[in-house]
Amino acid sequence: MNTLAVNGGTPVFSEPKTFAPWPPVYPETGDKLREIYMSANWSFYGPVENEFEKKFAEYHNAEYGIFMVNGTTTLECALAALGIGPGDEVIVPSWTWMATGMAPVYLGATPVFVDGEKDTFCLDPEAFEAAITPRTKAVIPVHLFGSMADMDKICAIAVKHGIAVIEDCAHAHGGKWNGKGVGSFGKVGSFSFQQSKIMTSGEGGLCTTNDPKLFETICRLKHIGYVPGGKRGAATGGKPEMGLLCHNYRATEFQAQILLDQLDHLESDTVYRSENAEYLRKKLEAIPGLKTQAPGRCATMQSYYVFGITVDPEVLKPGLTKADVIAAVNAEGANEVFGGWGAVTYEQNLWNVAPEKYRVESHEVVRDIIQNRIILLGIQWLMSDRAALDKLVEAFAKVMKAYSR
Ligand SMILES: *Cc1c(COP(=O)(O)O)cnc(C)c1O
Repeated sequence: MNTLAVNGGTPVFSEPKTFAPWPPVYPETGDKLREIYMSANWSFYGPVENEFEKKFAEYHNAEYGIFMVNGTTTLECALAALGIGPGDEVIVPSWTWMATGMAPVYLGATPVFVDGEKDTFCLDPEAFEAAITPRTKAVIPVHLFGSMADMDKICAIAVKHGIAVIEDCAHAHGGKWNGKGVGSFGKVGSFSFQQSKIMTSGEGGLCTTNDPKLFETICRLKHIGYVPGGKRGAATGGKPEMGLLCHNYRATEFQAQILLDQLDHLESDTVYRSENAEYLRKKLEAIPGLKTQAPGRCATMQSYYVFGITVDPEVLKPGLTKADVIAAVNAEGANEVFGGWGAVTYEQNLWNVAPEKYRVESHEVVRDIIQNRIILLGIQWLMSDRAALDKLVEAFAKVMKAYSR
């Protein structure tokens, strides 16, 4: 019973755990996609895109939404709309997906990486303030995994120093901080709808903003210079500002339809995942050596993308690491238990930006968590039933018991 499955023992899961595919599919969406196809009206601010932008922004308490191709271009457009370019510095967390760091690089600006908090893993407000220079123009806090950056502190520091806040909400669809939607706190919010995200249309992204001028500029950036709602060939609204480098970053009616229907499930799914997360948190924290990522301090609705667990390396027997824990838990039949990106942004495999084009200000806290402590549970776990969660906890308890000093 106590022999680990990695050592030939009987696994906790009688069958390796399987999950419904991600994302969930709704047959009625399939019917609507067929209608869009037959309408032959697939792009350029169609009715579904307009409705989705409006409803998604409203849900997050933002005035405007701008739908586009992915959650990297949304960050790039947010920075471009704020006029950020060569010579400017943008503060970003050391622990994030590469896109957050790449967005300033695309514009010739310098990303400055700073540490995260020990409990939430999100941008540390003190580390942010310490990294500010006269060149700092923006900060991009990321609501990472299953937590939220401290918007009260970050926004207060940003106001004090005249710095723009761009929220990277790629992991946080539906999240609320003090009752207010993520993406509505800073100048611009950025969402991703890439295949693995909480809401997804395969690819996609959206900017939220409350500022009519930024709304107009981001629309122009996305749609080759046209004003908001501008159809192809319509010459209304005048030229874009001289030198504003506009793109084709449009997405399609098909994507908007998939997301519009997912929006109907967002609230109930967010609640379901957060209740499961709290259930897991209590049980996992009872296992010596394990802790969990703290939710956002003022989260009134914590959106969970993945669930973060940390293992204390000091409790493990000599020679064992968190990678061994992950391997052993998966061998018990768990699956979808993984170690994350494995490195701070600028130490990830694909990061190839020349060292003089970015600056690392601090990373002590998060680098240790990433290398020695973090274990993540995929979103499918949070969508699972309690019986499956109990088995998962049992697998962790078994492994930690065997692997602890
Ligand atoms: C996924 C992600 C992005 C970028 O989104 P894409 O749609 O994949 O371009 C940005 N920031 C974070 C934190 C992400 O996880």
